[in-house]
Amino acid sequence: MSEVSRRQFLSVVGRGLACAAGSAFLPESMAAVVTSFDSGYFDRIRRFSDNHATDIHLDEAEIALLKRVAARIRRVQNTVGYGNFGIVGFDQMVRVGKRYSRVERFDDQELQFLERIFYEDASRLGFYGTKVLYRLTDEIPNKAVVKVPRTGQFLYKGESLETYERIKAAIGDDVVLTSGVRGVVKQMYLYLNKAVRTGGNLSRASRSLAPPGYSFHGVGDFDVGKRGFGRANFTERFAKTDVYRCLVDRGFATLRYPQGNLLGVRYEPWHIKVV
Ligand SMILES: [Zn+2]
Repeated sequence: MSEVSRRQFLSVVGRGLACAAGSAFLPESMAAVVTSFDSGYFDRIRRFSDNHATDIHLDEAEIALLKRVAARIRRVQNTVGYGNFGIVGFDQMVRVGKRYSRVERFDDQELQFLERIFYEDASRLGFYGTKVLYRLTDEIPNKAVVKVPRTGQFLYKGESLETYERIKAAIGDDVVLTSGVRGVVKQMYLYLNKAVRTGGNLSRASRSLAPPGYSFHGVGDFDVGKRGFGRANFTERFAKTDVYRCLVDRGFATLRYPQGNLLGVRYEPWHIKVV
């Protein structure tokens, strides 16, 4: 390790992992960011919704394709229903396109684009999380999940559901499940919409939403919020609520993306790490 990279390494460990005693505690995914760490990292995360010089962008033709395919997936969501869309698989999505004239089939260009987005190495964008769903066609088994009444969301049976039930029992009606299981298609759809809103800046999109395949919503994590707090549940303002204080007090605030994380992701106080 050169002297410069050693200093960068120590600097990352020192700033990001207050209680880690040394590199032995550095998970593999964090090791990736250490090797590609530069002085702008924390600035990019702090100003996650700004454009930064090192960001990766789609070109104009790709942005047109992005909008077209995002609109088609929206029509798939409208066809299968908001709740069910959370666990729709890729092959099922393609079949819905073929079957329903209001959706229309996904053409080769669109399919290749989705494939490229899915298999893109996210560290190129500045996202250093772990991939948890490896194939574009990976599916969420129906039997593995349960619909949570009045939320429009699914949760995995077992530890996820039990954790959510413990949270409800401890905090009561003020806490609500805001996002549960997301299959590849749902995560793809959220990510593409984010990319539309960033004008094709994929790095900026990936700072506030895991690229498809990298979201732990695919394997058991979920988001909670304060009832009636709306979209503010997905901002740092959530951390100022009484619900969040209760989560911390009761030991439920096991965050996937804490403040100062080295995964390339903004602070997400609402995202409960289960897996
Ligand atoms: Zn989340």
